[in-house]
Amino acid sequence: AKSQQRAGHFYFSRSMGVEIRERVRMMHALRTAFGQNQLFVVYQPQIDLATRRPVGAEALLRWQTPDGKFISPDRFIPIAEYSGLIIELGEWVMRTACRELVDLRKAGHHDFMMSINVSQVQFRHPHFLDILKRALDDTGAPPQNIELEITESMAMEEPDLLIKMLGQIKQTGVSIAIDDFGTGFSSLSYLQRLQIDRLKIDRAFVTEITGSARGSSIAEMVIQLGRNLGLAVIAEGVEDERQAQILQSLGCPLAQGFLFARPMTASALNGWLSNDALE
Ligand code: C2E
Ligand code: CA
Ligand code: CA
Ligand code: CA
Repeated sequence: AKSQQRAGHFYFSRSMGVEIRERVRMMHALRTAFGQNQLFVVYQPQIDLATRRPVGAEALLRWQTPDGKFISPDRFIPIAEYSGLIIELGEWVMRTACRELVDLRKAGHHDFMMSINVSQVQFRHPHFLDILKRALDDTGAPPQNIELEITESMAMEEPDLLIKMLGQIKQTGVSIAIDDFGTGFSSLSYLQRLQIDRLKIDRAFVTEITGSARGSSIAEMVIQLGRNLGLAVIAEGVEDERQAQILQSLGCPLAQGFLFARPMTASALNGWLSNDALE
């Protein structure tokens, strides 16, 4: 999109106008979709690489329009953030994932972990901690089995606020993972000051692993960093067996990706876990 600034006025090009109209249209559509239950949560299993057993799942939001089309969260999450709807939507995802965790526990999966993505807009909301505590209380989800994923880029902003927030979250018993790790530039000394539990290696670095000789260097560095800081490490976006094997040989304990399972509905996850337990 092009824009020109003249004498303090912005002249929007036609394409920019189209973009803004499109964004506003999607904002309304998303709000309606949320009200009409077109949004749902799917769960992607997380696997222990050594045993190949599932240890948890990541909750991921889906939007399917009445004509059957899926709209990617990469497209609608930024719009939900921009419009503020993410506060309500994020709370709903949190409560839905907590309830699903409770159901899985009733079905016998007691050690199962549930990872929930948290947007920086949610995280910065003055009532975030209350929203989290209420979700835990109302659903009866054990905080020890809940993990919040925040992105590395988010971890880079306002360090003092982040450190304080993480301290308060940790007091509830919930764990914290840094998502998309390796894409930002957090220093070792900074990471040491954060009360985090897990680093999630970004898919881009997992993909590179089987490429050039130097392709595995970032994944390797993150695994090493995790070991040095006493943090768990999980690789995301593992699509083939070679990647899984290299990760395991590098000492990565956990992985998530299409190789093991795609994100699935709650009932599919229930079935998938039960089948797995019978193997
Ligand atoms: P993310 O948190 O990095 O989630 C991982 C994404 O990688 C998911 O895309 C997942 O479906 C996809 N994925 C998993 N395994 C593989 C694989 O082996 N290969 C490939 N190519 N992709 C894989 P998805 O579900 O489309 O979500 C995209 C992003 O949208 C997420 O990235 C996250 O940033 C955001 N998002 C999704 N659900 C939520 C939510 O409830 N709240 C917030 N704040 N953000 C969400
Ligand atoms: Ca994530
Ligand atoms: Ca990620
Ligand atoms: Ca990502």
